[in-house]
Amino acid sequence: THHPRPTVVLVYQRISLPWVFESAERAGIDLVLIPRPDEAVSEDRLPPAVVDVLRLDIEADRAAALNVLRRRYEQNTFQGIVTLYDPAVPFVAEAAELLGLPGIGRDVALGAQDKRVMRARLAAAGLNVPGFVRLDDPADWEKAASLAFPVVVKPAHGFSSLGVTKAESPHSLKSVVDQVWQTCASKLGQVDGLVVEEYLDGPEFAVESLAHGGDVRMLTIGYKGDPQGPHFEEGVYRAPAALSETVQDDICREVKAAHRALGITDGPTHTELRLRGGVTPYLLEIGARIGGSGVSQYIASGVTGIDFAAQALRIAAGIATEPLGSGTLPAPVAAAANYIVPCNGSGRIIAIHGLDELRADPRVDHVVQMLFPGDIVRPYPDFTGYPAFVLSRHANIAEAEEFHQFLDQAIRIDYGHEEQA
Ligand code: ADP
Ligand code: CA
Ligand code: CA
Ligand code: CA
Repeated sequence: THHPRPTVVLVYQRISLPWVFESAERAGIDLVLIPRPDEAVSEDRLPPAVVDVLRLDIEADRAAALNVLRRRYEQNTFQGIVTLYDPAVPFVAEAAELLGLPGIGRDVALGAQDKRVMRARLAAAGLNVPGFVRLDDPADWEKAASLAFPVVVKPAHGFSSLGVTKAESPHSLKSVVDQVWQTCASKLGQVDGLVVEEYLDGPEFAVESLAHGGDVRMLTIGYKGDPQGPHFEEGVYRAPAALSETVQDDICREVKAAHRALGITDGPTHTELRLRGGVTPYLLEIGARIGGSGVSQYIASGVTGIDFAAQALRIAAGIATEPLGSGTLPAPVAAAANYIVPCNGSGRIIAIHGLDELRADPRVDHVVQMLFPGDIVRPYPDFTGYPAFVLSRHANIAEAEEFHQFLDQAIRIDYGHEEQA
């Protein structure tokens, strides 16, 4: 009999971030790409593994989008549907449920995407959770005034740290809540609630894992800096983090317990946490997807030699066999890092110095540039995006750190005077 190649629908992946496409190609999986509505995708220059493009706005009309997918499934079947874009996780879970494809289901996706639900479920399971209050209306801000300050105010459905803001004292709470609510309305388009939670003091880490049939395998723990706020722009990611065995074990235990508490039994996850007081892991959030639009694939595969995204796609297509890795962290084969070029200012970009030279640096695998001369950078909280990612590999994390210190000096953005936007 004829076995067609498995096909997976990939929702809202930017084609400028290539890793998941390359993994699909290596895994022999065809992709049907649903591009981001704001990204121009030319049919004659498609990324690897993409066999078809389906244009669909899942945010404008959810029911219509589900209908289009159902018709496509009936006419030209596919075996799975995935996304790396956090706001699309509930839609993808719903579509998979509707079509009987592998997935975590709508309710579990809600717990992994809505920070109010996530905090409540983690607390109910007895995990380490900071004091928190959900606000469904900014007028209720006083409910959060009795928390231990400083606190962090964040959108229930946020991503990329958009709007996330620290309030140092109860005096500034009302204005911070109002401002974050405004940012949600203007930047996220969806404004239905906030979480206010105690500020977790300590360095930040990210964990990449894969769940399959309820079995959770850790791949890497990486260092994410120690941002102090008041805003929390993404910065560095370097793995494997230099941590004691004891702290690594504590992190793995907490992360596995979070998968159980939220019911995440299948697929890739990206967990962010802080070590409160330098030792105790407290989750910031867990995403039921590959992190960083695929940056997590670059990091996890660079550190372990395991093709994380390929396995994630096999799980989505229902063709994964062996569980990946073991109960403990696999021994690292190298260090991998991402450096997000900081805006360091605002206005119209005149020049970005130091990026072109990096493309020839043997440590650098990718320079992904997102902002160019002529683009306008607005100051926080009216944020416009990150200038560039620099992805690199090193013998160990100390060399990655040294390289990032070099990048702090080597990359510079010049801004022109700009009329206030
Ligand atoms: P998003 O979904 O927008 O990424 P996060 O919950 O991950 O939202 O918050 C973004 C960043 O804000 C985190 O990476 C962290 O640096 C900071 N942050 C969020 N909550 C807290 C907290 N309770 N304590 C300390 N820092 C926090
Ligand atoms: Ca998030
Ligand atoms: Ca986050
Ligand atoms: Ca972050």
